[in-house]
Amino acid sequence: MKKIVVAIDGYSACGKSSTAKQVASILGYTYIDSGAMYRAVTLYFEQNHISLTNESEIAKALENIDITFLVNAKSGLNETYLNGLNVEEEIRKMYISNKVSQVSSIKAVRDAMVAQQRKLGKKKGVVMDGRDIGTVVFKDAELKVFMVADIYIRGARRQAEYLEKKQLVDLEEILENLKTRDHLDTTREESPLKQAEDAVVVDTTFRTLEEQVEEVINLALSKIIDT
Ligand code: C5P
Repeated sequence: MKKIVVAIDGYSACGKSSTAKQVASILGYTYIDSGAMYRAVTLYFEQNHISLTNESEIAKALENIDITFLVNAKSGLNETYLNGLNVEEEIRKMYISNKVSQVSSIKAVRDAMVAQQRKLGKKKGVVMDGRDIGTVVFKDAELKVFMVADIYIRGARRQAEYLEKKQLVDLEEILENLKTRDHLDTTREESPLKQAEDAVVVDTTFRTLEEQVEEVINLALSKIIDT
């Protein structure tokens, strides 16, 4: 069967990653979390006190950053490694969420990540989620999905995810972070978040994860049969 690229873009915490993971697993495709890459860069910048306005410092830092994904043998899920260290848990913390949209707006950072993402998706058979996958990274992706959901539902879902990890994060703080990131991600100069003209909108407000997955799988199958 022919392999395709599935690009899932949309606002933060709409269910992109959860859906993309399951869709990839059902199709036997590789799942790539492009947001994790920007989060890993942010962690490196934080740890090494990189100034976000110093271009040469940023360029040098990017040369020293190696991001890889490895499957966790127990969960079967991809985890993010920064220079050989597993940072999956660290990059999800609030202090990274509060900084990542500033870091991801830097052109040099985007150029480096987009180049890596294109390499990872070269052989097709990938599901990649992010903000600019259908508009920039894989403009010719066979299936483009644009996910949206009500802000309060997004906040509540994100809070539940933190609770599962035994972290209690105030709902107001989460909502504030989501709103700020939505604003920064949609208004930045470099590859802002926007719906690709040929994307299918999936509103997850009143949908369960199973329903979201089913909808994307059906869309993907129709493209696989078509191509
Ligand atoms: O997907 P996630 O919420 O983990 O992404 C974190 C941040 O990374 C986003 O808020 C956005 O600033 C940035 N990002 C991006 N382009 C992508 C994926 C993520 O700018 N393709």
